[in-house]
Amino acid sequence: MAKVRFAPSPTGYLHVGGARTALFNWMYARAAQGSFVLRIEDTDRQRSKKEFEEEILDSMKWLGLPWDEIYYQSQRFDLYREHAQRLLDEGKAYKEGEAILLKMLPQEIKIYDLIRGEIVFDTANFVVCSDGGEPVLDKDGKTSLKDEVLIKDDGSPAYNFCCVVDDALMDITHVIRGEDHISNTPRQLMIYQALGFKLPKFAHLPLIMDEGGGRLSKRTGAVAVSDYRKQGFLPEALVNYLMLLGWSPGGNQEMMSLSSAVEKFSIKKVNKAAAAFSMDKLKWLSNQYIKQADTERLVDFMIPFLKEKKYIGEDFDRQKIKNSVNLFKGRMDTFLDFIERADFVFIDELQIDGDVFQKHLSRNKEKEFRLLSDRFAQTEPFDVATTEKVFRKVVAELGIKASDLVHPVRVAITGRDVGPGLFETIVLLGKEKTVERLAKVSW
Ligand code: GLU
Repeated sequence: MAKVRFAPSPTGYLHVGGARTALFNWMYARAAQGSFVLRIEDTDRQRSKKEFEEEILDSMKWLGLPWDEIYYQSQRFDLYREHAQRLLDEGKAYKEGEAILLKMLPQEIKIYDLIRGEIVFDTANFVVCSDGGEPVLDKDGKTSLKDEVLIKDDGSPAYNFCCVVDDALMDITHVIRGEDHISNTPRQLMIYQALGFKLPKFAHLPLIMDEGGGRLSKRTGAVAVSDYRKQGFLPEALVNYLMLLGWSPGGNQEMMSLSSAVEKFSIKKVNKAAAAFSMDKLKWLSNQYIKQADTERLVDFMIPFLKEKKYIGEDFDRQKIKNSVNLFKGRMDTFLDFIERADFVFIDELQIDGDVFQKHLSRNKEKEFRLLSDRFAQTEPFDVATTEKVFRKVVAELGIKASDLVHPVRVAITGRDVGPGLFETIVLLGKEKTVERLAKVSW
């Protein structure tokens, strides 16, 4: 049975790259009806933090990627010691102070990577350095093969060693991870060899770059999954976006649910070339998902955002939120867009931006506003059709064009010069506030 794992280190938040790795493993497991293991690689006691671990688990749940089993490497130190001891006993490893090192033999190592095809590592010509960094040249300008640290000086087990012991003992069949781990693979193979464990299959996922081909930075999208959540992206939009980073269901299809992606997913169809992260595309997808989402569900998502802004208290009018969400549903990429654009519904004192005021309210319209506000005060029912009729009538009586009043009114009641239809907006805001805001503009 296929068994895969996602193995984050809780030394930082779950970022786009990690989330994509988790997702591809998850899809692989579901597609093969296998199982998905979450392994928290918390051997580095200094850098591993409980808050990062919690954030990773929360993000996985929020993304909708449940795991079948979970392990913590910090609880398995005895196991790693035991296997290191075995290698010592067999004469394959040796001690140097407290550290235990594996004797590495120069040899050619080949793996068949499910995405990249055959990869040949000439261990005599690449350096095995425990941090996985650039090859270190010796004084003759040659690379040299260094023995692999299994247990460090401080007695803690090293990443490559734990990884192999765990992957083998957990019966992981496919190791699917980022391309940044490729340089670890030959070293891990030598550890497999020494331990006499059966090899899993490997698949190294392409790197994720920004659109300019550079490293992903905070500005270009390398932010934690929890930040996307805080910005108000729907989880299914982010998941949909992540699945397109290196894979495509074929054709021009871009929007697809996780379950239909699982049906089509094949690790062999994953691209070798780096994937470019596009914030615009993520926003576009998010916009589409929000448009289609059930309004009640969006209301549930919106409540904590509104509470945080103090736009609502514990006791709130759900119907008002629902009406607002309905009106803005087609006009937001994220929930934060909603909070920003629909603020006028929830706040008492409207702040009108100076430039917007200058552009639309600089010519005195006190007389027009007063008439409109008086008429609105008497309008019954206060619905879209009736308010529009009343508005048109006022405009006709004043002998002006509707457009002369539409923008100023919108600005006076929402603080903005763009937004959904004016009469829908007026009705959403309600009679009392509309009348009050029209009467209150200081010319
Ligand atoms: N803990 C490693 C990381 O977070 C996992 C690498 C692997 O999947 O083998 O990058």
